[in-house]
Amino acid sequence: MTPSEPPDPFKPDPAALARWFRVRARDLPWRTELPGGGRDPWASLVSEFMLQQTQVARVAERFGPVLARFPTPASMAASTVEDVLSLWAGLGYYRRARLLHAASREIVARFGGLVPSDTLDLRSLPGVGPYTAGAIASIAFGLPRPLVDGNVARVLQRVHARPGCASDPGVMRWAWKQAGLLISAAAHRALPPAQVNEGLMELGATICTPAAPRCGECPLAASCLAHAKGAQARVPRAKDRAARAKLSLHCAVLLDARGRVLMHQRPPGGLWSGLWQPPTHEALPPALASLPVVGEVTRLLTHRRVVMVVRSGRKPRAWRAPAGSVWVARPDLAALGVGSAHRAVLELALRAPRGTPRPRRR
Ligand code: SF4
Repeated sequence: MTPSEPPDPFKPDPAALARWFRVRARDLPWRTELPGGGRDPWASLVSEFMLQQTQVARVAERFGPVLARFPTPASMAASTVEDVLSLWAGLGYYRRARLLHAASREIVARFGGLVPSDTLDLRSLPGVGPYTAGAIASIAFGLPRPLVDGNVARVLQRVHARPGCASDPGVMRWAWKQAGLLISAAAHRALPPAQVNEGLMELGATICTPAAPRCGECPLAASCLAHAKGAQARVPRAKDRAARAKLSLHCAVLLDARGRVLMHQRPPGGLWSGLWQPPTHEALPPALASLPVVGEVTRLLTHRRVVMVVRSGRKPRAWRAPAGSVWVARPDLAALGVGSAHRAVLELALRAPRGTPRPRRR
């Protein structure tokens, strides 16, 4: 190695990260400090559940109402899962709402209504994996525990120019080890674990982005091997995208003489588990085929492209509604746990002039 070459291995500087985060952190509702300092662990847990697989901007809109309705684990534990699902509408991945509800009950039953700080206790809660446990322990309780999500893995891979795809198990094991070394170095220097961990996540979300990292604004640029080698575009390697399978569905928005809408609840498990919907079928029942088509709603899920052909009209006499179906007045639809795809279906059908086909793609 010549004197002009950068040292190898490079080590990210936790102090630089913490400094940068203190100045550059986005103002997000779940980052509000308590009057005595620190974060409310329950608010942190709720935000982490909401942020899984959902964009920050959308969570920022919904976090306040969810926390206002459920300010403590006890308040959520005393509610039904339906109450939680109805507030979750539009965030997608509704399994998270069920798991958060189950976690609130566990917190009340096993931890006296207080979110535990120990990562093993945290991981014993439904829906809490190693990332969320590390986030709550470090951000809400100030403990030097590592965390790795996709953003963190990408930053660490680039800083160390570690090849491979971030979703490879070997890369993730390596990233957890590096994150552990970083948070230990931070603890050694008495740096706040919250600022170091959140700094890593924030850096990956805002500066060290997948396609266009802004290295000129990065607090780790001086210690980044990918930057030194000009290898940012190659590290990490892009994930091979599997083609999404198409799922075709037929939705019937059926009305009675009073304008009420027929709804039924999906069974537990599988796609849109437990959510409410207008009758939805993979094969169109013949008795519904005569209803006019009012348009289509398309949704891209992780592994599937769902295309829903929407029909609407009065319920045909020859058609038997699924067991458990109920007529719901339109103003009451908002309080039902309806997923965003079926909300789009309802919106399309209930706004479309009768018999006027209108395509809709989202
Ligand atoms: S210098 Fe560039 S590639 Fe390296 S961590 Fe910072 S933004 Fe990412």
